[in-house]
This record gives sequence, structure tokens and C-alpha cells, in this order.
Amino acid sequence: MRSLWSKEEADGYVAHYRERCNADIALRVYSSRLIGRDPALVLHGGGNTSVKTVVKDDLGRQVEVLCVKGSGFDLQDMEPEGLPALRLEPLRALRHLQSLTDEDMVNAQRTRMLNASAPNPSVETLLHAFLPHKFIDHSHADAMLSMLDQPEAEKLCVERFGRRFAFVPYVMPGFALAKLAAEVYEKQPDCQGLLLLQHGFFTFGQTAEESYVRHVQAVDEAEQYCRKRRYWSSGRGSIPPVRSLSYATLAPILRGLLGQSGDVVGRVESPTRRYALELRNAPETRAFVDDPQVDEFSQVGCATPDHVIRTKRYPLVLELDPNASESSIREHIAHALHGYRERYRDYVQRQMARKGIVVRPIDPDPRVIIAPGIGLIAAGATPKEAAVAADIYEHTIDVIRNANAIGTYQALPEADIFDMEYWSLEQAKLGKAPRKPLEGQIVYVTGAASGIGAATARLLAQNGATLYLVDRNETALASIAKELKAASEALDLTNEQAVRQSFDRAVQRFGGLDGVISNAGTAPQSPIDTCPTELLESSLRINLMAHQFVLSAASAVLKRQGTGGFLLVNASKSAWNPGPDFGPYAIAKAALLALMKQYALELGGRGIRCNAVNADRIRTGLLDQQDIAARAAARGLDTDAYYRTNLLQREVTAADVAQAFLSLALAPATTGSVITVDGGNIAASPR
Ligand code: ZN
Repeated sequence: MRSLWSKEEADGYVAHYRERCNADIALRVYSSRLIGRDPALVLHGGGNTSVKTVVKDDLGRQVEVLCVKGSGFDLQDMEPEGLPALRLEPLRALRHLQSLTDEDMVNAQRTRMLNASAPNPSVETLLHAFLPHKFIDHSHADAMLSMLDQPEAEKLCVERFGRRFAFVPYVMPGFALAKLAAEVYEKQPDCQGLLLLQHGFFTFGQTAEESYVRHVQAVDEAEQYCRKRRYWSSGRGSIPPVRSLSYATLAPILRGLLGQSGDVVGRVESPTRRYALELRNAPETRAFVDDPQVDEFSQVGCATPDHVIRTKRYPLVLELDPNASESSIREHIAHALHGYRERYRDYVQRQMARKGIVVRPIDPDPRVIIAPGIGLIAAGATPKEAAVAADIYEHTIDVIRNANAIGTYQALPEADIFDMEYWSLEQAKLGKAPRKPLEGQIVYVTGAASGIGAATARLLAQNGATLYLVDRNETALASIAKELKAASEALDLTNEQAVRQSFDRAVQRFGGLDGVISNAGTAPQSPIDTCPTELLESSLRINLMAHQFVLSAASAVLKRQGTGGFLLVNASKSAWNPGPDFGPYAIAKAALLALMKQYALELGGRGIRCNAVNADRIRTGLLDQQDIAARAAARGLDTDAYYRTNLLQREVTAADVAQAFLSLALAPATTGSVITVDGGNIAASPR
């Protein structure tokens, strides 16, 4: 690891932020970003930094403050607003107290802030305040953790760093740690920083550059130390990959069982929780996952305590028999999950008894699953959470491997981890935003690039769904996928094989599926008695068979998953009320309704609901606009009036159709049904 400090860049920050803050804070922003940028130093909101400086308060007086990272900010995109200012003197005065509860500490910090609406300062604020240094940097750098997560950590660190750093034994973050760290520093006042055993490290300096360079320098030395034996493994070679079971098959089984948390198995329509899964199988990760001793190495505990809220204390190791049948694999996973959950519940009981307290237990599901032969699978309420857990565990793998290369990896005992896992200040980091109706649900949408498909995708995204969008139009698809931060794939739905492969990719990406909006279609026209066979066949191919390909591929995933799901098709009013020369279209759509009913009939027992939306006269690319104008003119109307010829005399929009799809996605007791979205058309109403 090398220092990325550049005088030119640093000057640029000072100039850029001149209007918004002083040079101290501008430089604090700069070196916070330098640290945040490197995942070997900090990950996903981890680490914190501070500067002591002088600013004007609201009376215009110069006041000495501590600007420290606020919670919810990531070092890599730090801004001055992410460094709330607290009056330093009254903050330091807290050191004279004997003790301070977490709630009182949070309150004491807030009452010392200059800006009442600024974010809560870091839980490690007092540690920064009680040390005298101007600039302080804190990280949980991988290489440092490899040295600090050791039974002989002090010996190794002295060997490497001499007396440059002072040691702080493990104490949970908060008031007690802040006091202890200050005492340790005062006994060794010439040190450049503090090594917090089984937690991380701090460096300090008179300038932003000095503290940062000391930080990077120390990590670099730790890396060199580990690198000597970098390519560690237990040395017994890896087991052969699981051949008979692809991840696309495994993931829905795992996801379904993860969602049904043991106590109430069986109610297919309402899994307790839904998870997104993230697979990691890069060679370095596989080397760990496939190690014959992974069962031992992976069960030691977290590399630094605040990882516990993302990864739990240890992963589930899921050894699967390559030659087993799908049903026995299911049974095996259910059994393994049951064991993991029991172990988790026992741990919570044990720790509650030890502390004489009662906590509301967090769900007992694993967040990291190690599947030898397949890879590392992380689970989260959203794809982002799953990715965070995967990132953290990949770095944990690095820490464990390096720690075992230079000594023996040793994590904190479960009592300390429990304190951290159930610490209210730590749980607060996970946020308590109200859940959206489709949060955690993975939905596949066809014809998503425009019209009804795009409107539906937007509405589903607003309601929390995770989306996999497909369309023929690659450019338009890329644009909406970007807008909605969705996964996407250009696809020809008339190719059955391609559709199956696309569902495999969706499962690879998110771990499973909860619903489908089978929307794509075309509207070919011809008198029926002279209709060219190719035209009729091509309409049947896209307006009927493509839906069958989509529903069939989706059903295979939903059945494996065993947590119900919804299959929604876009039919048309012409399914019931055909128009002249629309035979090729109307016939396919009428058959599509029959297809919908067949799925409702045959898959209802598995909690899979199938429904249709019959829309009419929506301004989309389906019909040629000149055609519409001609048809309107034939009725003596202009185009706008034509769109309003319905009972409600209201133009129906793609957004109205999207609303119907959303309603059906959320209707747990509705299957085999059709919703009309046509402004009212008695001739086309269900009968
Ligand atoms: Zn920390």
C-alpha cells in the first residue's frame, strides 16, 4: 500500500471548499476520501476520521471544535457536512465522569453540536475528543487485523513496529474505550497511534498528511509482513467441484428455505423473510471456500466487531454431495439451516442469561453461506445488503488467511460479539426505514423498455421491487435500467432456449424470483380469411408462445423456491372483444387468457398466482400513430377524443395499467382473474 497524498490535490481541496469551510476541514475531507477509497482500509461506512479546529459559532465567536465523521457518511465520498462540529471543551469535560450510558453519551454529543440538524457523530467521537492530536484517522485495515486478531498480537506488532504504537486491550466502543485509549496514550505520549486489539487502529498527526501517511505506512508494513507467506492454504488441495448441481438450481432452493425461518414452514404464500443472494467465486475466494479445513477456519468469528451486524458471527458451511438428487439436496440444506438457527438461538439465550438481560432476538438466519465447490453466497434483505455482506466476508477471508500465515487467527469471544451485535448504537446503523410493499421481491419484466412495461417497471421500483428487465430494444432498455438501477438483458422472447438461459442469469444475479410481468407483445393486423399463415404464426409466437416460455421458465424457479409468487400477463380487451382486422392479435390474446387460467389452475396449490390485465387504447408504440389518426377520423373524432371514447371518458395511460399490475402483484387471494383497464367498455367487460 502506498500513500496517495498529493500536494497539488490537497491544495485543490482547500481552494474548492474555501467558501464552505476552513483549510483544516477541507484537508480532513481530502484525506478521509483517500482512506475511504481503498477497500483494504475501510469498507461500507467503516472507519472514522476527525480534525480539531476553530470555527465561528452563531454569535460570531471563535470556538474550538472537533469535526468528526457523522454516521451515515462514507469516508470515500466525504463532504464538510459529513463532519459535524462539536464544541471541544465541554466534550473533553466528559472524561471526568466515572461512567456514561450509551444513551447519555449520544445525548451529550448532540448537545455539544454547533448545528442542531447535523447527523449524529460517530460512536467513537469521545475517543477522538480525549486524544490531544489535531488529525486522527481510524480504520479496520485488513492487514492490521491479521496482526491484531492473534493470541500473540502484541509480540508480533512489537516485532514489526517497535514502540511506534501503544496497545489498547479490547473494550467495546463507547465511553469506556475512549477513556482507556486516552490513558494508554498518556503513558506512551511519543507514540504515533494506537493499536486496538481485535478491533483496528488509530494514527494521529499535527497535519492531515502526517496522520494519513503514518496510517498507510503502518498498513504497508503489515502487508509486507503477511506477504512473506501470502499464499497460504491448509495445503491439502481442494475438493472437486459440485458437478451435478448448478448455482441456478441451488440458489432458489436455498433462498426459499432461508425465507422460511424454521418455525412456520409450509405457508407458501408468506415466507417470513425474503433475501437476495450474491455469489462470489473468484479464484482467491474459491481457494478458501474449497479448502478442506474451511469448516474450522471459517468458524472462529468476525475480524472486527462491527462486521457482526452484516455477516453474523460466522458463516454456514454447506457441504453438498455432488451426486445427490435435488430433493435430498433440499433436505440437506433445510437440515443445515435448522442447525445454524438452533446454534444462533442458543447463543442468544446463553448471552442473555450471562448478562441477565432480555433482548429481542434478531432473525437466526445466516448471512454468509460457504458452499465448497460452488462459492461464497451472501444473503441480504436487498441485493445491496447481500453485496455488502459478501464484500465484508471476502475481506475477512483475506484477514483469516494472512493471520494464519503469520500466526493463528483469533477472533473476539462470543460475549463481546454479542454485546456489539445487540448494541443499540450498532443496530441503528442498519436503519429503520419503513419497508416498502415489494421490498425483497425479485421481479422479471418483459417489454420493459417502453410503454406499459416501462411504466410498470417504474412503479414496481417505487414499491421496493428488485428488477430484472428484458426487451428487444437494447438502447432503450439500457436507459431505463440505468434510471431504475435495475439489472437488464436484451432478449428475443420468441427463442425458448434464450428465455430459459435468461432466467438462469436472473437467478445467478439475485438468487431467485418472486414474480413476472409478462408484458411484451406486438399488434399485427390482417383480415382473418386472407391472413398470411406466417403473420398469424408470428403473432402466436410473440403474443402467446413467448408468454408460455416466460411463464414456464419462471414456474421452474418458483417451484424450486417454494415460496409462491405471481405470474402476470398483459392480455388485451380484444381477447374478449375483437376488432375487425385484428384477428392475428385477438386470437393470440384470447389464447393467452386460456394460458393464464391453466397456470392459475395447475400452480395454485403451490401458492403461485396467475392473473391478467386487459387494457385498451393506451398511447404506446404498439400501434402506428397514423393508423390511430385514421381510425379516429373514421369515427369523426380527433386522436385525443378517440382515446377518451370509454365509459369514464378518460384517456387510459400506461401508468394506469402499471397500477393494475401492482395491485395484482400484491393481491394474495386472487388468481385466475382479469382486471380491465380500459376506461370502461361494456362490450369488453368480463362475462
Ligand atoms: Zn472501529
